[in-house]
Amino acid sequence: MSIKPKISAIPDAAGEPVSRLPAPLEWIARPLSRLSTSHFNLRAGLTSDTLISVLLIAAGVWYGHAHGNMRLLPAALTVLCGLFAFTFIEYAAHRWLFHGHTGPFEAGHNRHHVDPLGYDALPFFMPPLFMCALGALFTFALPAGYALLLAGVIAAGYAAYGSSHVMIHVHRFKSPLMRRWAGFHNIHHYHPEANFGVTTGLWDFLLGTRYQRQPRQTARY
Ligand SMILES: [Zn+2]
Ligand SMILES: [Zn+2]
Repeated sequence: MSIKPKISAIPDAAGEPVSRLPAPLEWIARPLSRLSTSHFNLRAGLTSDTLISVLLIAAGVWYGHAHGNMRLLPAALTVLCGLFAFTFIEYAAHRWLFHGHTGPFEAGHNRHHVDPLGYDALPFFMPPLFMCALGALFTFALPAGYALLLAGVIAAGYAAYGSSHVMIHVHRFKSPLMRRWAGFHNIHHYHPEANFGVTTGLWDFLLGTRYQRQPRQTARY
């Protein structure tokens, strides 16, 4: 199976968005834009997203056990909170970052809408760095073991999202349930103002952006 899209990215090397950047940033934006549209980057991203989630979860569990302050119930609650938080991050990033007026992110995502089988994706090292920064941030509010576990679960959600998005665009599901699930995101490609969730439609349901089929106009005589 050839893998293809994941999500939006940095602007195209030859595209207008790069040239809109301040001159000092162009020298870094151009190589990043080339990287973010490469097949290598897509594969490296799927791998590094999975790897960082495993590492963060393992580090959290290890640290919690080593310091004797990790208990099963709070750990299970941390996992549930992480999954729940990820569903909102997925929705918010797609709705307000990739479909907002955000320059490079918006431009990269627009290209995914034009060519869902393209290779546009964030540079592979960005999400893992973000997840590590998130883990460090959580240590201000939580014991380090729980902080790393929480960041690891969010990273696992992101890894699942990346793989799911690729599968939705390259695989034809046979199961009616899976076809319905994939259809939720495919509808977004025809109606970009709706269905911002990819792994789940929960936040579209809660925030009223779930696609509603328009009733057919009946002819009046
Ligand atoms: Zn898509
Ligand atoms: Zn979109």
